[in-house]
Amino acid sequence: MTKQKHLILGLLFATFSISVFAEKDIKPEKKETVVSSEKDTVPFKFSNPASLDVPLVESFDDVDNFDFSSSESYNNFDPTFDYYGIWDTISVNPYKIDLTKKEDTTEIVLNDHYQCDYQHPFCGKVTSHFGPRGRYRYHYGIDIDLETGDNVKCAFEGTVRISRRSSTFGNVVVVRHKNGLETIYAHLSRLDVKIGDHVEAGDLLGLGGNTGRSRGSHLHFEVRYKGMAINPENIISFENGNLLVDKYLVDKHSFNYVKDYTKYKGKSRYYQVRKGDTLGKIAQRNRTSVSKLCKLNGISKKTILRPGRKLRLA
Ligand SMILES: [Zn+2]
Repeated sequence: MTKQKHLILGLLFATFSISVFAEKDIKPEKKETVVSSEKDTVPFKFSNPASLDVPLVESFDDVDNFDFSSSESYNNFDPTFDYYGIWDTISVNPYKIDLTKKEDTTEIVLNDHYQCDYQHPFCGKVTSHFGPRGRYRYHYGIDIDLETGDNVKCAFEGTVRISRRSSTFGNVVVVRHKNGLETIYAHLSRLDVKIGDHVEAGDLLGLGGNTGRSRGSHLHFEVRYKGMAINPENIISFENGNLLVDKYLVDKHSFNYVKDYTKYKGKSRYYQVRKGDTLGKIAQRNRTSVSKLCKLNGISKKTILRPGRKLRLA
């Protein structure tokens, strides 16, 4: 064959390969999820576990540096591939499993005093804990105060699954660990790892910052099991920067907060009228409507609200 023919064949093959790989990478565009102005919280809709997924996708350009072409290297590459079944470099929770119904118990070995250990991502003051942020938001992680530029380290050994910029999390790293957990490090000012990197506990992942939906520099740190968050304070002492337990058992009770929050959301709430309040203001502040308030409290729009009166909100 002539040189030219070689070139043409080569080009054809390259085009074919690119289209094959591109197809693999393309995912249906995610539905736009409404996110509040509060920092790093997501709408709480536990009826659909898929909604635990934080809307991370604006573009796919930063995920192309991982070689999907060899399924062999793919499997060798990630030791927990079979365990998780899905390797996704965009979505924090691509698994979409409702673990509140988990029937078995999984033992997670956090520290065997030999091969695996823990390093605290950043030693700083906890400024926000895991739990509900009001009635409509849930904080799936823990916030640690830091200065922009502080080193953020990996908690356990593992493989970087996500290293990208997101509108909510800012620059974010997600690491899949050999122990079966995944951890999330958000609002970073700089990313120092890329998808597929092998990281040891204590390795630098990036620098702390104030990117994404964040007010003030801090590290938003999450611990997840198969996509669903567990309270990091169940396993880590954030005061001492070390593990509370060497082993952690994951079962449906690890996700009791889901039920607790659903119950809390369903409870009727009351609001005590203050001087200067109007029905409109109260409705707006509590994300309800004037007509709903009137109906719940047996009042009309013209009812004079005396300070101290308790109004039912739900
Ligand atoms: Zn946070």
